[in-house]
Amino acid sequence: MSASQPDSKPRRFPLQLDQVSAGKSVGARTAPPVGRELLRPQAHFQQAEQDRLRQTIPQGVGLDSVHMRRRMVDRLMGDGIDHPYVLDAFAKVPRHLFVDTALVNQAYEDTSLPIGLDQTISKPSVVAAMMQLLCVRPGLLLVGSLQVNRPLGTCLEIGTGCGYQAALLGYLARRVVSIERLRDLHDKARGNLATLRQHLPESPVVQLVYGDGMIGHVPSAPYDTIIAAAGGATLPQAWIDQLAPGGRLVAPMEDGRGGQVLTILDRLADGSLQHNRAGAVRFVPLKSGTT
Ligand code: SAH
Repeated sequence: MSASQPDSKPRRFPLQLDQVSAGKSVGARTAPPVGRELLRPQAHFQQAEQDRLRQTIPQGVGLDSVHMRRRMVDRLMGDGIDHPYVLDAFAKVPRHLFVDTALVNQAYEDTSLPIGLDQTISKPSVVAAMMQLLCVRPGLLLVGSLQVNRPLGTCLEIGTGCGYQAALLGYLARRVVSIERLRDLHDKARGNLATLRQHLPESPVVQLVYGDGMIGHVPSAPYDTIIAAAGGATLPQAWIDQLAPGGRLVAPMEDGRGGQVLTILDRLADGSLQHNRAGAVRFVPLKSGTT
């Protein structure tokens, strides 16, 4: 049948111009049959906006988010994450509170998601692997049982983004300092962490700093652990200088061939440094200065 053949049935969509009258459409003249819902595609957006304004969890997601997190944790275990504190942190922190309402349905998939300003929240499996690397730092043997419950000790995070990873780190560290160079994201993370505290009043307090993470954060140095969510050509010297003996730094770094590799740097008890590499990763670029 060619496209120009006349239809035998009256056409409802697309409407011909003469079928459209002011304030009325053909569809509006006839009530929909009982049990058939009127399609209102804009309703989802209106609902999303209302949810955003109320800063609440959209109904339904909140109710089964415990179950969804459990499934995410099971997947992480399947990926080789077995540190109980890491798994516990992922089971506790509601990732859907940190992503835009329109993306909540994907919040527990193993995927990175946009958080605005061309930045992304990293995928859970990568965040978990990096946190596990910090938890098993060899330097923990130096401090013995002192830091056993908080194996990350004093932790510096470069790249707060939406604050999700900072919240996770809060369960593993005695203290977390997290730096973000983009003012809007710094503010967004502050809001997200405040929302988290409404849902989980016992959630750890994280110190958020607006600034250039390439220079680290001297006031709280040295750090037992440093974790970066953005990768550059080299490891900034400030990070290395601010790493405590027994400390471990985990960061993406450009591999010189257009990719990135996860770099592990340990400061041994005698102050010397030991470099290791752990697989290819893909993070946003580390940039200097603030915006
Ligand atoms: N951990 C974050 C991931 C954020 S993506 C989360 O859970 O959402 C990486 C972040 O690093 C971006 O927000 C980016 O702005 C930030 N970043 C890049 N270079 C930086 C720098 N020099 N100092 C601080 N933050 C930086």
